[in-house]
Amino acid sequence: MTRLVAKSWTLLLLGCLLQFASQVTLAQNGPQKIGLDLYACISTNDASANSTFLVGKDAILLVDSGLNTTEAEKCLTQIQSISKLPIRYVVNTHYHLDHQGGNKLYTPMADIISTVWTRQKTIEMLKSVPPHFPSSVVPATITFDRFLTIHLEPYTAEVVSASPAHTLGDAYVYFPEQRAIATGDLFLNGSCPAMDQGSVKNWIATLNSFLDQPVETFVPGHFSVGSRSDVVFFRDYLVDLTAQVSALAAAGDSIDQVKKEVKAGRFSRLRQYAKYDATIPDNAASIYDQLRHPIQ
Ligand SMILES: [Zn+2]
Repeated sequence: MTRLVAKSWTLLLLGCLLQFASQVTLAQNGPQKIGLDLYACISTNDASANSTFLVGKDAILLVDSGLNTTEAEKCLTQIQSISKLPIRYVVNTHYHLDHQGGNKLYTPMADIISTVWTRQKTIEMLKSVPPHFPSSVVPATITFDRFLTIHLEPYTAEVVSASPAHTLGDAYVYFPEQRAIATGDLFLNGSCPAMDQGSVKNWIATLNSFLDQPVETFVPGHFSVGSRSDVVFFRDYLVDLTAQVSALAAAGDSIDQVKKEVKAGRFSRLRQYAKYDATIPDNAASIYDQLRHPIQ
């Protein structure tokens, strides 16, 4: 009996400590300030993308909405801890579910913005039988071809197409006043990327164009906020792997041989995610395929 009572007290104490710990964690899990009125919600779930939000004078712009409503609500809580202004714009950097599965939480108050291709692909995924996307995905209400400037006074946000790269319909958002870019999955900090149908050549050119701008802070699609040197490392990985695959393919290697023969070298510290086809051999296979079937 005594032991039972002692055990109950221990459990109660443990429960209190856990509750305290979770409150401390919650407090620490606020948005990360990355510039004047610009913040990042860094996802604690690898399966859900990071979000970035800019607080203007009258409204808020959000980049990417996360995997689903649950993940989106986590970011909304963080946004509302900073500002109760309405969220007027949600930019989706590409069509993948982890970047636009939370759109519904923000509509119809917010306009959803994407490239034309991303909107078409999203509708296709929603209408397929069975649907590939849940109804929490809302396709764009505003699309653009190459470039869109949003004047969220007193700031501007430049939404730029970088297609094709990670997918056939990528976009990123440049915040000139904050010297920051929300990159979507065009940049992952310390990780191999997943490669959809796209173009590694244009992807590298896009990363170079990031570095041509006076930008200091990069909110990646996943993982922690990056610096210029983090983007350089990621760009160099794609350059190195493309050179290796090109040489092996030119020597007549098959895709399976290429996957086995590519060397990680100094890029071995990149995270490998086999479940998302995001490993060095997976990336090598995608590049091999792109070299053989370049996008016209
Ligand atoms: Zn992603």
